[in-house]
Amino acid sequence: MFRLYDTRTRQVETIRPARGGLLRMYSCGPAAYRYAHVGNLRAYLLADLIRRNAEHRHHLAVLTCQNITDVGDLADEEAGEDKVLAEARAEGRTALELARFYEDAFRADCSALNLRPAEHSPRASEWTGLMIEMIAGLIEAGHAYPTPDGSVYFDARSFPSYGELSGNRLAELRAGAARGAGEAGRGGGAGKRFHADWGLWKSAPADRELTWPAPWGTGFPVWHTECSALSLHDLGDVIDIHTGGIDLRFPHHEDERAQSDSVTGHEVVRHWVHGEHLLFDGRKMAKSAQNVVLVADLADRGLDPLALRLAFLEQGQAERGGPDAAPVARAGGGVGLLAKQAGARPGGRADRRGVRRRPGHSGGAAIAAPAREGPGCPAGIEVRVVRPRRPAPRSRPGPRSRPMS
Ligand SMILES: [Zn+2]
Repeated sequence: MFRLYDTRTRQVETIRPARGGLLRMYSCGPAAYRYAHVGNLRAYLLADLIRRNAEHRHHLAVLTCQNITDVGDLADEEAGEDKVLAEARAEGRTALELARFYEDAFRADCSALNLRPAEHSPRASEWTGLMIEMIAGLIEAGHAYPTPDGSVYFDARSFPSYGELSGNRLAELRAGAARGAGEAGRGGGAGKRFHADWGLWKSAPADRELTWPAPWGTGFPVWHTECSALSLHDLGDVIDIHTGGIDLRFPHHEDERAQSDSVTGHEVVRHWVHGEHLLFDGRKMAKSAQNVVLVADLADRGLDPLALRLAFLEQGQAERGGPDAAPVARAGGGVGLLAKQAGARPGGRADRRGVRRRPGHSGGAAIAAPAREGPGCPAGIEVRVVRPRRPAPRSRPGPRSRPMS
């Protein structure tokens, strides 16, 4: 078995599937209103490594689910507009046209990085019935309440262990404060009983795009609702590993844990694994910081996306360094060797499926070794690259790589 740093227990834990030889893993998927940058994609690489490690080294079957957030991601939880709708308006498309476009772009980027697709990749907008059902269950059990305007809130005080993931405590969550990574605050909302309660369902006019009728009123599910409902539906009520970027730890995962555990009556996720922020030029890579790098940007500079994968593998998930030109270019030289090896390994056939082919490539893969331990390496995975037994034939040159200028 292998070991990973668990955000909730704050220690390295041995990972064993709870039920038989099937490891169930959920990863929060992309928001389908913009391109994923390489920092976002690095979080998906973490899930991919865990999966390949479990399958290839530990001979486990792995069942994964990764949602597509095409509704309910709000600029501000209480008052903000749905980001999909806002961006659709800005780009002059319908919400679903926009969402499908960015979903396709995300899948192409994942393919270029040889990230294997999840077995389940539900679009939130197609499963709102599940979310309504879950919210109804939470209301019935006394964990949630509707407000007069037709929204529904989770009653934070009904879940005593709230805060175990992030260290935030209910008393410390300030009413009206901005919410974000590591920020302990929540916006205000009409009819909300307690400052730390959060929205599960937001009322909206029926003529708005992406709304659904519900027993408490027409509206749409808020983002946190979706991951609980979809993970429980596709993976069952015991999930071995839940992954995501560290910025999802609070409030998203904290809220998700409270919802899932409250509706089932037990701890659903056994291990929470988070990847660190990616720093670029010393700052967190984010659209707001205007330092975003896309997979397409690497290709524009003649760098193979698999070189980025290798550079990330060399770096470790716990480290924050960015995809600087030099490491990526250096890694480019090794990708051909990796690709060769991947084709010869068990599972190689499946690995190659869906990989965007280029001259000199047969698809790359890396094999993960057990997690490194130590406080300096949360969620760190040390990757051992297995060298091919024979050099690649001359007729299949390695990928082109040159340093960025
Ligand atoms: Zn999620």
